[in-house]
Amino acid sequence: MTKRRFTLKKKNDRKSLAADICDHVVFSLSKEVDNATEHDIGKALALSMRDRLVERMMMTRDRFREAKAKRMYYFSIEYLLGRCLGNTLCNMELLSECEEMFKDIGYDLDEVRESERDPALGNGGLGRLAACFLDSLATLDMPGCGYGIHYEYGLFRQSIQDGCQKELADYWMADGMPMEIARPDQAVMIPLYGRVENSILPNGEYLPMWMDWEDIIGVPYDIPIVGYGGKTVNYLRLFAARASQSFDMEIFNHGDYIRAVQRKIESEMVTKVLYPSESVSFGKELRLVQEYFLVACGLRDITRRFSAQNKNFEEFADYVVIQLNDTHPALTVVELMRYLVDEKRIKWGTAWEITQATCAYTNHTLLPEALECWSVDLLEKVLPRHLQLIYEINSRFLDGVKKKYADDVEKIRRMSLFEEDGKKEVRMANLAVIGSHSVNGVSELHSDLVKRRLFPDFYEMNPEKFNNKTNGVTPRRWLLKSNPPLAQLLTDSVGKKWITDLSELKKIEKYATDTEFRKKFIAAKRKNKIVLSDFIRSTLDIKVSPDSIFDIHAKRIHEYKRQLLNVLHIIHMYLEMIDHGREPFCARTFIFAGKAAPGYWEAKQIIKLIHSVGEVINKDKRTKGLIKVAFTPDYRVSLAEKIIPACDLSEQISTAGTEASGTGNMKFAMNGALTIGTLDGANVEMREEVGAENFYLFGLRQEEVENLLVTGSYHPRGIYEKSPEVRQVLDALRSNRFSPKDPGMFSWIVDKLLMDNEQYLHLADFVEYIETQKIVDREYADPALWNKKAILNTARMGKFSTDRTMREYARDIWNIKALKDLE
Ligand SMILES: *Cc1c(COP(=O)(O)O)cnc(C)c1O
Repeated sequence: MTKRRFTLKKKNDRKSLAADICDHVVFSLSKEVDNATEHDIGKALALSMRDRLVERMMMTRDRFREAKAKRMYYFSIEYLLGRCLGNTLCNMELLSECEEMFKDIGYDLDEVRESERDPALGNGGLGRLAACFLDSLATLDMPGCGYGIHYEYGLFRQSIQDGCQKELADYWMADGMPMEIARPDQAVMIPLYGRVENSILPNGEYLPMWMDWEDIIGVPYDIPIVGYGGKTVNYLRLFAARASQSFDMEIFNHGDYIRAVQRKIESEMVTKVLYPSESVSFGKELRLVQEYFLVACGLRDITRRFSAQNKNFEEFADYVVIQLNDTHPALTVVELMRYLVDEKRIKWGTAWEITQATCAYTNHTLLPEALECWSVDLLEKVLPRHLQLIYEINSRFLDGVKKKYADDVEKIRRMSLFEEDGKKEVRMANLAVIGSHSVNGVSELHSDLVKRRLFPDFYEMNPEKFNNKTNGVTPRRWLLKSNPPLAQLLTDSVGKKWITDLSELKKIEKYATDTEFRKKFIAAKRKNKIVLSDFIRSTLDIKVSPDSIFDIHAKRIHEYKRQLLNVLHIIHMYLEMIDHGREPFCARTFIFAGKAAPGYWEAKQIIKLIHSVGEVINKDKRTKGLIKVAFTPDYRVSLAEKIIPACDLSEQISTAGTEASGTGNMKFAMNGALTIGTLDGANVEMREEVGAENFYLFGLRQEEVENLLVTGSYHPRGIYEKSPEVRQVLDALRSNRFSPKDPGMFSWIVDKLLMDNEQYLHLADFVEYIETQKIVDREYADPALWNKKAILNTARMGKFSTDRTMREYARDIWNIKALKDLE
């Protein structure tokens, strides 16, 4: 049998590309080429690239189908993709070609790229990780696609007014999304609400019937994900909620047209907006519906694809594996059981084996406020049949626990899917653990805490399930694309292989003390710092010197991430100069970026504090420009790509045991920043890789933090009384020196920092933090020393490529293989 082989129609030479752009200007945008604006040309370029990706996506699909490849489906409620155009050009190796072409016709590709809006369908680290995974899977030629939600409004845009965060709606599709492909023909129908009718078949079999549900339609939108080199194009499939025809028939029939349309609109609310908070559980009905919507749409899509090739569902897990990105999609376990048992009439035991073999769960946080629980009442209302199934799963599971541990009542209480104290709730993390064959954390330290602190009973019962997969980032976006000067230097020095094998950068270790190389490395960093300085001057009207240390803290604003500790150090430096006449060796620019959840009062106050301190310091002539503070608003992927390459010192200073991994830390170090950090998350492994002498470590260890917290022996007031540095800084904060117009504004911070139950232990680490910052100051003054260390950081970050992470998941959890083109 001769197989139908796809051949590429679209060529990548300049002539073909230029012709396609002109065609799209005319036929897609309906404009004349001569009158096309830069913006039109950009759109036409994106559409031309989409054409190229589409045919490669079809080729990839054929290739995986012919090979009957097992596929991995990544279920994530968030994807923080960032801009697509530059990334696509970069991975198709067409970036410089297009730049030249644009120059020839008198347009600026950079400007076109700058005008693209970030699709911000995620909050932070968790969503960005998902995006990096997709890039690596495609680059590795692995069959792995993402499933998520097509939010109409992404993460809010942040503006700053009078030093305070204001949220603006992010209607990210305003300008269209040229890359995506709507697939209304593959829409799926999702039932919700209703009730369960219990009936017994004549043969005695129990037949539950989910009745009187309302339904919503899930329409898939595909965003092609091209791997580096363009050989494999996978996709991210995002579902948008649409009202179904039947949804409102009854009201229509009663003649109440307006009310019927209103109901339609309400059902489309499901995918209207992304919940804007990281590391907290919401407990809202709409969020539960969102989570179920993702799971139900994803599974229907997957089972339909499976059924088209294979009728035997007992083999399901040989062809399908689903990775649950945190507990948000944990209902997958229940929905798959419902499908197998209710619809496919498969025996419970078999169905459970299939489900466990299919699902795998990644835990992302240990913070108690982030552990999702759904009230039984709400589940009963929204998903009545699923609640029944959860009871059944629990009772069978607890039977097993009892068999193994006899009558350890406490253990059974802890392992139950149901929290019975107070309002009865379902613990989604427990559900994800028992329904999966693999449970992983995202760094060595975190995975260890997942076993010991979060799930000790489950670990004791099934130690083989638990494993670690340290996070990474894709070096394509975070080095090749975002840092052209450094990328060029690396390629000139060791060739291009590093782009797909980051461990190749080990080869630049030998240049760490090479004067010529070091000069070029410094020049690349300086170039990036000048770009960022210009950006800060033009957007914030703050003049910063590219010769100063760029000390950067960019991530979501959260108390556990301790932006406050950084601010305390800035105040300390300022007081040293102004009150004591002690100047630092090096000038410093403190740069902050990050959004606070709209309802997180403390985090928003910290933003205000950064601005208030900055205002006082920036205009105080007595600092002689030695300290500047800048807050760059609206942190998002495109801003991160500007900030990170310009960084000298990366702030990774969370309280040990609170940051699961961090990925910002990796992006910075890869781009030649040195890290000042605690032994938390992946910092531990980064320090091991780059060498202790190339990492500025301070702070309590996780065991020390835990010990202080459980024994209640943290007494910050004692630290305040003993340490003059702490006293001066806190007294200044209380004195209204930084809030002359709002007396008392920041005294809550002083009060909180001095409480015994201040759980992030700011003051415990403060003095050592200042001492370590002094070492930074001294060492930056020695460029040969500093840059040797910086070069070694870039050279030794190979482990933190998501290519490595994806290979490990593929080998240990998914059992999927790379499938290069057969030709
Ligand atoms: C990488 C990244 C994050 C995660 O940063 P952490 O420092 O790991 O918290 C958050 N937001 C954006 C836009 C990012 O690019």
